[in-house]
Amino acid sequence: MQHSASHTLFEAARRVIPGGVNSPVRAFGAVGGEPLFMAQAAGATITDVDGNSYVDFVGSWGPLILGHAHPAVVRAVQEAAARGTSFGAPTSAETDLARLIVERVPSVEMVRFVNSGTEATMSAVRLARGATGRDKLVKFEGCYHGHGDSFLIEAGSGALTTGTPSSGGVPGAIAAETLLARFNDLPSVEALFEAHRDDIAAVIVEPIAGNMGVIAGEPPFLEGLRDLCSTYGALLIFDEVMTGFRVHPRGAQGLYGVRPDLTTFGKVIGGGLPVGAYGGRRELMEQVAPLGPVYQAGTLSGNPLAMAAGLATLQRCDETLYARLEDLGQALEAGLQDVAERHGGVTVNRVGSMFTLFFTDGPVRTYADVLRCDLQAFGRLFHVALEQGLYLPPAQFEAAFISGAHRPADIERLVAAVEDFLQAT
Ligand code: PLP
Repeated sequence: MQHSASHTLFEAARRVIPGGVNSPVRAFGAVGGEPLFMAQAAGATITDVDGNSYVDFVGSWGPLILGHAHPAVVRAVQEAAARGTSFGAPTSAETDLARLIVERVPSVEMVRFVNSGTEATMSAVRLARGATGRDKLVKFEGCYHGHGDSFLIEAGSGALTTGTPSSGGVPGAIAAETLLARFNDLPSVEALFEAHRDDIAAVIVEPIAGNMGVIAGEPPFLEGLRDLCSTYGALLIFDEVMTGFRVHPRGAQGLYGVRPDLTTFGKVIGGGLPVGAYGGRRELMEQVAPLGPVYQAGTLSGNPLAMAAGLATLQRCDETLYARLEDLGQALEAGLQDVAERHGGVTVNRVGSMFTLFFTDGPVRTYADVLRCDLQAFGRLFHVALEQGLYLPPAQFEAAFISGAHRPADIERLVAAVEDFLQAT
């Protein structure tokens, strides 16, 4: 495959953009080589500037549950753009999208839109601090909640991939307010509550971790978090930026039947445009400005184009879509598990349409487990798959995604590529 046009564009980008990318994992640092510059995409297919096409298992890192350039989403955005791209004043589309979220997610009675998942989590934590009058935050090793100062401590995703799970530039005083616990390890959380009983404002968790690769929160762990937060008067924040409307019509909380106090959303609710949101019980959300003392604002928040894309997407997130995604996911899991059993050395974790192939023997259920992965082997598989026209996330510690536009044949191609790869190694 030729990548010369991508190479030329990357050289130009590197001169004016740090690392040539606007989000670190895109740089291919974890797998070697240079990033592909994309030209266009439709359905499950993405095409780079050299004209190479790939079955896309990245899906813009989660938002594109309907696939690329879904006609209804494109039409909705075009129509909204023609009416004006931003007003800085309320529009009915914001209420429509908010109502849709509130109707589907029982723990959410009110919702505030922001522009990214990062903004959603930062704002939710500020609200939790304002509502409880406490400062400390519990987060889990390997979980990623965007790039807010409080979260870049043993964080997952790009932070973990680039080997800097704790970022420079985070004031020590802020880092000191973040307490670290171990995912799927309730006693590690109990110990923190015992040591800081009246100081913890919130526990924030990805109920299904996606940013150290996919690891499902175990039901007793998530239920235990709920109980601990209730016992100690802290708020439970489910960061559903990745899982919201992805794994179930009501998100991970619908799948597990655990009710958080606050929920953050992003990705799918924007249908590929920049949107985030946080929501929860009415009396909590009424603490947010202009009703309450917790300030949070945004010039482009509730942007009409983004609301239109989100609405067009969520309106199509119905039982039929989730059933289809589950069928495709099951086929993928069964295929990869069969390959894993015959060759060893890999483990597949999947929830719905999110999955990761870990290069380690399983089970993979903790951060310590993922750190055992053979990252070189993942990098080699990534490039072998790419050559076969399969675009995987360019890092081991990420979730891959299936969309409603994928076909069983796409899944079979991926399974066959993994089989060939393991056979050859
Ligand atoms: N929370 C989770 C669980 C995420 O997966 C991400 C992004 O991948 C974020 C927060 C941050 O969202 P954004 O990249 O839109 O700022």
